[in-house]
Amino acid sequence: MTSLSRAFLALILVFLSSSGLAQSLSLTFDDGLNPDTQPGAREWNQRILSHLQQADISAMVFPSLARTGTGAGLDLIMDWARAGHAVGNHTSRHRSLASDQVTLADFVRDVKEGDTVLSHFPTWEPMLRFPYLKEGDTTEKRDGMRAWMRANGYRAAPVSIDASDWYYNQIYSAHAKSGAQEKAAQVKKAYIEHLLDRASYYDGLAKQVLGRSPMHVMLLHTNEINAAALPQVIAVFRERGWHFVAPKAAFDDPVYSLPVNTLPAGESLIWASAKAAGLSGLRYPAEDYVYEEPKLRSQSLLPQGSSR
Ligand SMILES: [Zn+2]
Repeated sequence: MTSLSRAFLALILVFLSSSGLAQSLSLTFDDGLNPDTQPGAREWNQRILSHLQQADISAMVFPSLARTGTGAGLDLIMDWARAGHAVGNHTSRHRSLASDQVTLADFVRDVKEGDTVLSHFPTWEPMLRFPYLKEGDTTEKRDGMRAWMRANGYRAAPVSIDASDWYYNQIYSAHAKSGAQEKAAQVKKAYIEHLLDRASYYDGLAKQVLGRSPMHVMLLHTNEINAAALPQVIAVFRERGWHFVAPKAAFDDPVYSLPVNTLPAGESLIWASAKAAGLSGLRYPAEDYVYEEPKLRSQSLLPQGSSR
């Protein structure tokens, strides 16, 4: 597609989504993989990229050096860049800015260390995805980081749709490893339902808070379950009327430039906006395994001896 027709399509999608006729969605993948510590890393990475290519979807990856290492894992990120997916920064050490053990200066160092390595990728975008979506537990850290980003030409890369793919991945991987293929397939099915459920929840919350459906940004991770489930995830979302857009286009939605002054800061931007607007009934943390574990337990899908 030419850039002009892409821009035209984006305009139509903004119109359709503001009129409630279509929802748009972009996919972002956090962390990255490390072949030196994860035997499946190369295969999972390659599968995710080939699924995206087959579905003609442009995505964005946010590597953390704590997850990729500084060797072969970065070669896998280069594969994302070569395929045209944007590369952002998810820090060097993957520490939470909401931790009282992490100062603003510590966190800035993590971001700079990530920048030093990641800014060399050809599809680099100076955008920061906060680890755990935690944007600070104090005004000083939250506003300090915002000031640092402004001064250094950075933008935050929040998500609108948060989910627990990392937890479904743990359970899926345990079954796959033990050869319980039937259970793994059932977890994959439950995972797809989970993503649909979270997308529809956050879209509904957005309509309540913003009065419209924004260009959504979904949080996923570079992991085994996405390597396995992505084609079905994409197909099911398309069947339900979701249109995929590139994260770069989605981040142009003005919602991602809204200052939201909650504390602790972070979570999904839609969740935080709802909290700032005083909506009741919001759970905290917004997404976590504690909500998903009982569902999988009730379907007898937790691995033997799994405490989590
Ligand atoms: Zn992460």
